[in-house]
Amino acid sequence: MSDYKISKIKVSVVKTQSAGADYTDHAEGHWINDRIIANPMSVYKEYQHSRSSWGMDVLKGIFIQIYTEGGHEGFATAYGGYLSTWVIKKHLERFLIGADARNFNKLYDQMYRSAIPYSGQNGVVINAIAGINLAMWDLVGKIKNEPVYNLIGGKVRDKLHTYVTGVQPKMYKEWGHFGAKYPLPYGPGDGPSGLKKNQEIFMELRKEVGKDYPLMIDCYMALSVPYAIDLANALRESNIYWIEEVLPPHDLESHKYIKRACPWQRWTTGEHTNTRYGFKKLLEDKSVDIIQPDVTLCGLSEVIRIMNMASAYDVTVIPHCSGVYAYNFGIASEMTPINEFINLSPNGDKIVPVFGKIFTDEPVPKDGYISLSDKPGFGVTLNKEVELEEVKF
Ligand SMILES: [Mg+2]
Repeated sequence: MSDYKISKIKVSVVKTQSAGADYTDHAEGHWINDRIIANPMSVYKEYQHSRSSWGMDVLKGIFIQIYTEGGHEGFATAYGGYLSTWVIKKHLERFLIGADARNFNKLYDQMYRSAIPYSGQNGVVINAIAGINLAMWDLVGKIKNEPVYNLIGGKVRDKLHTYVTGVQPKMYKEWGHFGAKYPLPYGPGDGPSGLKKNQEIFMELRKEVGKDYPLMIDCYMALSVPYAIDLANALRESNIYWIEEVLPPHDLESHKYIKRACPWQRWTTGEHTNTRYGFKKLLEDKSVDIIQPDVTLCGLSEVIRIMNMASAYDVTVIPHCSGVYAYNFGIASEMTPINEFINLSPNGDKIVPVFGKIFTDEPVPKDGYISLSDKPGFGVTLNKEVELEEVKF
């Protein structure tokens, strides 16, 4: 009987809304879906009013539970809905049953290599591997009775200063956060008048938060190289702290043209790039100032590899979203001066956990900072009231 020998994997789709790793799964009227926000589909006017109209929220979160012979359990919420549950049960499970849960590197590598013929670098297959990796960290932390941050090098800071993504920047400043990130409303499909409207909106927001408060913009893959350059120039007076994810992940290469044209602007990207291979080019080119891997979508082991690469290039790593998984990484990463806290209350005006109802005790910021407990694993407890549909295939 071994404490660490994996005996069973249970995978479920999260059925309760506003619970789990799909941060877009919310009721109608929520700012994350139903608002004019530039995105890859907003060039099509019929889909511009709402990101759920084209299916941004279609996948849903999943919940992965890993059990060992010794009666231990680790779990994680992950992304990819029924697609990733299928990948886990029909393919990846074979590498895990009977394996030692401490073998993070070998198991990540086996799962990754075995999926190369059909997976690609980003998306639900990699996200399924990531979810298993997170559940393994939770499991091993619980067996060793240590929080995950102590297993990956220990704290480099006592608490995390957070910036907030959402639609109430002035409020986030008053709450004591490092900065505020606001979604860009208009994109290339809206032409020069849309660019003008963007300019007015951010001039107004700059007035609201005052001259020096860090104000960032999220562009959610909506732009082109010329539009990104035009936007940075149009907003130069508004002193934008960073402009995020202007291009889709299939064109990381072109960030270098944007950086070359506007070197005075901080540029960031990476939330839809899920392995170290995607980040390699960005780092070599020094074409962005900050990279933003998503810990839920990459897995903790892969984000640590990405952070080590970024460290050699002196590029800051500020993970995207990822709730408690990003906090455990951030508190142990010398390359991570601040963490994101996405405000997922319907109007962005109340503090709620990033993963919603799925855990009873996910840490949230207080006065602009998040503190982590010393509970083992990721330190969170499953909320039994959340409906999980176990998927067996
Ligand atoms: Mg973003």
